Amino acid sequence: MEPVVQCVDLWKIYHTGKVEVPALRGVNMEVREGEFVAIMGPSGCGKSTLLYVLGGLTPPSSGRVLVDGNDLGEMSDGERTLLRRRKIGFVFQRFNLLPTLTAYGNIAIAQHIQGDGFDPHRFELTVELLGLKERLHHRPGELSGGEQQRVAIARAVVTDPKLVLADEPTGNLDSQNSEAVLAMLKELNSELGQTLILITHNPEVAAHADRILHMRDGCTLDSAAHSAPPQHTHELIIPE
Ligand code: ADP
Repeated sequence: MEPVVQCVDLWKIYHTGKVEVPALRGVNMEVREGEFVAIMGPSGCGKSTLLYVLGGLTPPSSGRVLVDGNDLGEMSDGERTLLRRRKIGFVFQRFNLLPTLTAYGNIAIAQHIQGDGFDPHRFELTVELLGLKERLHHRPGELSGGEQQRVAIARAVVTDPKLVLADEPTGNLDSQNSEAVLAMLKELNSELGQTLILITHNPEVAAHADRILHMRDGCTLDSAAHSAPPQHTHELIIPE
């Protein structure tokens, strides 16, 4: 089976004025369909950057990154946006729900943005799995943090994406709600075969995944030692 995600010697260098910050320094990794992978590492090691690159939010500087066989480095911004809408679901630490829409609206809008129209079967399945049936007509401000994150997860999976990327999804929740949200992510993975990548600095959160990839200094530790950086013309700032 083809991997859903494949990174080969992936670099991402931020250019801020005259300095260059290499946030990713030769990441090699693969995630297969149906896997639940946690990427764990200390603050500043490049986890968010990796998630942004995998999600097509920012292009790689060099190396290869394939998502469902699509080479993100070869795509225009517009092509990456389309790929993101069609194939990727995001879950953020701060939920990022639209405050004026109900839970129903926040979930349904994802299907409309994807472009295939409303799919009532998938909608009901998602709402059922996330235990949101009784909460659909509430706005985010009327929901607890745990419920808001469940709505956000429903929004991410209601489009039946190839890949869900979760950025510290329990970072804003108390321990009870964290456990519930992680249990639901696990259930989506086992019941729907949803491929999931979660980033976290917290080993207890990472332990819920099937596999943990450790990151340090812009590299996944399981990958080979740092390769030579691409050509630089500016001062290079290596993150701590
Ligand atoms: P993590 O998610 O593990 O905390 P990040 O990917 O946010 O790590 O950051 C990795 C490195 O890249 C850090 O040194 C950070 O300061 C730097 N960085 C992140 N985003 C930017 C940006 N937009 N411009 C410049 N440097 C950035």
